[in-house]
Amino acid sequence: MNTELEELYQQVILDHSKRPRNFGELPGAVSVHGDNPSCGDEIDLHVKFRADGGVEDIKFTGSGCAISQSSASLMTMKLKGKPRAEAEEFLRAFHQLVTTDTAPTVKGFGDLILLGGVRKFPQRVKCAMLAWRAFEQALHEPGGAVTTEEG
Ligand code: ZN
Repeated sequence: MNTELEELYQQVILDHSKRPRNFGELPGAVSVHGDNPSCGDEIDLHVKFRADGGVEDIKFTGSGCAISQSSASLMTMKLKGKPRAEAEEFLRAFHQLVTTDTAPTVKGFGDLILLGGVRKFPQRVKCAMLAWRAFEQALHEPGGAVTTEEG
């Protein structure tokens, strides 16, 4: 990373960790708890799914390091309103971004791309993935399943 990118990375991460977007409770949502004991990060992710499995609304609460908080904040911004297939694609692409050198094939990653810098630090990868792992878990909760029956 060059210096300019590093500065941008720090700005974005600090901004989101200080003023997390979509922070709060979401009544009636599927809630999943995740933690990362090696760093002390905790998250409660709240996801409201549409009947077709798409993400109607998503919020989080919790506390932790700047990486875990900013990743959760950026994630909720990206996933809110997304159809299920796109949300799952983002999940795969983000994992790829923080664990490999391959650029994600998904468009619209925006500032999330900056979190790719954590791939050099395995401990930080856990921080960056915490919210995403919680989202992955939410997809498999009974309330996160695609409802096929009518009405
Ligand atoms: Zn952390």
